[in-house]
Amino acid sequence: MHVAVLGAGPAGLLFSLLAQRRRPDWRIEVHEQNPAGATFGFGVVFSQGALAFLERDAPDLHAELTARMESWPMQRIVHRGVAVDVDGNGFSAIGRLQLILFLQERCRDAGVQMQFGQRLESPPQADFVVGADGLNSVVRQGRGFEPQVEWLSNKFVWYGTAQRFDCLTLTFRENQHGVFVAHHYRYSRGMSTFIVECDAATWQRAGLDRMTDAESRAYCEGVFAPDLGGQALVSNKSVWRQFLLLQNRRWSAGNAVLIGDALRSMHFSIGSGTRLAFEDAIALDRAFGEAGEDVPRALAAFERERRPVVEKLYAAASASSYWYESFPERMRRFDALGLAYDYMTRSGRMSAERLRAIAPRFMAQVDTGGPSA
Ligand SMILES: Cc1cc2nc3c(=O)[nH]c(=O)nc-3n(C[C@H](O)[C@H](O)[C@H](O)COP(=O)(O)OP(=O)(O)OC[C@H]3O[C@@H](n4cnc5c(N)ncnc54)[C@H](O)[C@@H]3O)c2cc1C
Repeated sequence: MHVAVLGAGPAGLLFSLLAQRRRPDWRIEVHEQNPAGATFGFGVVFSQGALAFLERDAPDLHAELTARMESWPMQRIVHRGVAVDVDGNGFSAIGRLQLILFLQERCRDAGVQMQFGQRLESPPQADFVVGADGLNSVVRQGRGFEPQVEWLSNKFVWYGTAQRFDCLTLTFRENQHGVFVAHHYRYSRGMSTFIVECDAATWQRAGLDRMTDAESRAYCEGVFAPDLGGQALVSNKSVWRQFLLLQNRRWSAGNAVLIGDALRSMHFSIGSGTRLAFEDAIALDRAFGEAGEDVPRALAAFERERRPVVEKLYAAASASSYWYESFPERMRRFDALGLAYDYMTRSGRMSAERLRAIAPRFMAQVDTGGPSA
């Protein structure tokens, strides 16, 4: 069977690797517009347990990946200069480029054919097409997938910095133009992700809509000077964007299927886009494991298994993204502890009871001090 995969991100590479290992007789071709050693962004973070599925389905990959990750047992919220730690809420992180290079190497070893540096405007002829080509997927275009999109209004930009942070931290800061939040964590010994987000009105008042990349970085370095310890922000194709919430009514059309961000986006505040891309890849490979070369049967099995899980998580991620859309008002309303509690319960899936079991030290503070309004 000839399989054409568009996109060598986490979804496309992991699917190709697993499928090629399972079926060495298949011709699997991956087409990627970027050169082999380039990608956007910096590190990505996984919540505790988010990689358990990889441990179950590909224990060798799980062991090799986790050995390359930075991990920590808590999350921190900084507001009005006060830091609140939420225990029991652990995360691990890895550089996006490091992750992709690792998967490319394994794909090469397995015999996957990879072509880099060429953008395709439509998928090539093949027995089966995998659209793993991200948010702006060309596989999705004009095939009746029925995408549904919603743009969030906040602005965000994905920077890196050599400043090392103890753990995944949300830092809220205010200046004369408005309010900002940074999502930051280290993903290697010497580098951290630093995503800056603000509401559209703040962004315009600050003049960020008219700034060059260097001016924008200098401005954000000023806002977060107390947190950056004199380290600069660095760019990697970093532009201010609005987040796109995307879903598709149909997951497959003819012999083509969407996986990863091409299928649906997951707001970065729940740290799950890469995890979901991995889970899609594993589920699709497993579906072919059961269906052999029967493409319609495999696609039906894939959707049957994945859709309920994805829809549940999508609802949580959307609730989380709406919380960010109202963060300026929440910053004014709550002190650090109150904001941390409000944040931890934002998706509607975390009750006080559950938090008491997971984060007893944090909840002891909340119960004695009370989330103050
Ligand atoms: C600011 C930000 C922070 C994030 N942080 C996290 C995080 O902490 N944890 C997490 O799990 N996720 C995070 N994500 C989400 C994560 O980056 C995505 O969910 C994940 O990359 C999806 O993987 P993918 O393989 O589906 O798509 P992508 O990683 O987008 O890969 C798609 C690939 O397809 C290629 N491509 C696209 N079109 C074509 C074409 N026409 N021809 C050839 N090649 C093409 C692209 O170059 C790209 O390499 C974050 C996202 C953002 C924006």
